[in-house]
Amino acid sequence: MQTLFRLIPSIDKLLKSQQAIDLINKFGHQAFVSEARNLIEEARQQMVTTQKLPAFLEHESALFTKLSAKLQAIQQPQIKKVFNLTGTVLHTNLGRGLWSEAAISAATDAMRHNVALEFDIEQGKRSHRDNAVSALIAQLTGAEAACVVNNNAAAVLLMLATFAQGKEVIVSRGELVEIGGAFRIPDIMQQAGCTLVEVGTTNRTHLKDYRNAINENTAFLMKVHTSNYQIQGFTSSVSEEELVELGNEFNLAVISDLGSGSLTNMAQLNLPAEPMVQEKVAAGVDLVSFSGDKLLGGPQAGIIVGKKAQIEALQAHPLKRVLRCDKVILSALEATLRHYLFPEKLTEALPTLHLLTQPLYVLKLKAEQLKQALSKHLTAEFSLQIEDSLAQIGSGALPMETLASVAVTISAEKQSDLLALEQRFKSFRCPIIGRFAQQKFWLDLRSVAQFELLITMLERE
Ligand SMILES: *Cc1c(COP(=O)(O)O)cnc(C)c1O
Repeated sequence: MQTLFRLIPSIDKLLKSQQAIDLINKFGHQAFVSEARNLIEEARQQMVTTQKLPAFLEHESALFTKLSAKLQAIQQPQIKKVFNLTGTVLHTNLGRGLWSEAAISAATDAMRHNVALEFDIEQGKRSHRDNAVSALIAQLTGAEAACVVNNNAAAVLLMLATFAQGKEVIVSRGELVEIGGAFRIPDIMQQAGCTLVEVGTTNRTHLKDYRNAINENTAFLMKVHTSNYQIQGFTSSVSEEELVELGNEFNLAVISDLGSGSLTNMAQLNLPAEPMVQEKVAAGVDLVSFSGDKLLGGPQAGIIVGKKAQIEALQAHPLKRVLRCDKVILSALEATLRHYLFPEKLTEALPTLHLLTQPLYVLKLKAEQLKQALSKHLTAEFSLQIEDSLAQIGSGALPMETLASVAVTISAEKQSDLLALEQRFKSFRCPIIGRFAQQKFWLDLRSVAQFELLITMLERE
């Protein structure tokens, strides 16, 4: 065994060869040494069990071929581009939506250049980083001002920490949402140091439930949009308008976590209705928060709109500094919001709205093209069909509000063949992600962006 071990080359010996020098020039000394060590360790382990020299140690060139492959592999990005054919348009696990070209261009400009982020060019003095977005949002929603943070979860945390630390917040039992596992209203309340006061029951909450819970320690009344579920049957909930009236009576603010929210009327686009930010502002809600990367169609951000005095209090809280957005996000958000000044062009400009509003005949044409391109990749055990499908908006927008869609479905006698096919699709240069349902593999055309690139890849792969 010892004599066998002696045949393993030392790192020092390897480092002297020209092949090593070439690899070091390409990948760096540190990566080379670390992968060489891993490979030698792998060889030792193998030798203990097999009692012989692994094939890749028999010739130095075989060893370097293996090393080169490893070094190539570790250089591949782990956050890879993928094609989303899951049918869920805003898929959180796949990075939600895509940005508009204007937002991408604003973001890359901000990356390459200095920008007037906190600088008023005309006055030549310091300004605030949220000003540009704040002015646009005021114009679009009728709110007095806005505050932008990392995401909507952060927005809710900031509102609670600013106005309700050590105090009570009244929320309906029917609205204690959990979004995507990690965002739960009771947990965020605890983090913000406030006490949740639950009122009403799961299915019914009345104005008098809120009224009875108000005491001198109440910070505000809170409304949470039940984004990802619906309570049906014998139900009642209290509207923002009624809460505002009650709030006025006791001099209490009302805040609303809208989740996705929307700045445009989704019903006019034939999409499931989503509460509009401007309606809540008009109803007199003091602060409304919503996501930048749900239906709005922009970068990940949390936007809080409301009255000037309250927005100023949020801006002054130390947590705002912790949760603030950088120049890239703020530039992209500004560009995204600008599209809303020209609502007739929204579905053209914003990829998310474009995908969601594609007519079925377009999806059918794409399905035919996809079926054609896939056929050359599939052997006789698979069969391909075009079928009606049900897509979703995703990201917490009502999962039971489905969107008509079209899919290419793949079936096979053996489920194991389908699983192997799914793996093959995932191994493509740009992996294709679909979904399993009814023992078939579904490739839904509603959610896929860059369709032409998908076809080109399938033709080349
Ligand atoms: C999605 C959602 C959140 C979290 O928003 P992120 O931008 O994902 O942080 C909070 N509240 C509600 C009601 C939501 O729907």
